Amino acid sequence: MKPVYLSSPVGALVEGIYEENVTFAQLREHGDFGLGTFNDLDGEMVMLDGVVYQIDASGRVNVIGDEAETPFACVTFFSPMTQEEVEGDMDYRAFIDMLLGMLPSPNIFYAIRVQGRFAQVKTRSVPKQENYKPLVEATRNQPTFEFGAIDGTVAGYFTPSFMSSLNVPGLHLHFLSFDLQHGGHLLECRPSWIRIGIQFIDQLVLSLPMTLDYLTLDFKRNAESDLDRAER
Ligand SMILES: [Zn+2]
Repeated sequence: MKPVYLSSPVGALVEGIYEENVTFAQLREHGDFGLGTFNDLDGEMVMLDGVVYQIDASGRVNVIGDEAETPFACVTFFSPMTQEEVEGDMDYRAFIDMLLGMLPSPNIFYAIRVQGRFAQVKTRSVPKQENYKPLVEATRNQPTFEFGAIDGTVAGYFTPSFMSSLNVPGLHLHFLSFDLQHGGHLLECRPSWIRIGIQFIDQLVLSLPMTLDYLTLDFKRNAESDLDRAER
């Protein structure tokens, strides 16, 4: 099985470390599918088939080159083990319950790719930040975007709850429309016809930054409730 790769523990991002020196060229050595953000928290990142997309605070989608850097990203080489097609309108709660119902255990990682038609999608992005502003403050005023009748991809991960200092626990999903015009961190959606691919992952590769900010960070505070407020 292919491992999931984390470029940094998400706990560092929660504490306001928004600059690391991991380039997308380096990130691509560890996967072709994933999500995360950019240095200075400059928008939401989604990687599909090796292409890195930025959804900036204005909602614009930009393709990002090799030289850009990320303070946090989660990627894997995507190869789904289960594929399922689901037809019929459902609300967000039903969609999430259905996804969770497809995961045989909450104690391993899963990469999840959902493609199809949505009656409605709501996303958010995050405006560029100065370093050191805690994530919960940085995400307080986040622009949200709402789309009706849109075709696209929901991409993300499920992470076991006991790994909340390393990755966003539970489901963390981003969205990108097929026409590459819209996207962001997924807040809600109402699928009408979707194909769901799920990859089971039993290994984690974690990079620890060697920057001074990271090496001198005090991790004593429990950041889990901040993460929950910032990411939901
Ligand atoms: Zn996100």
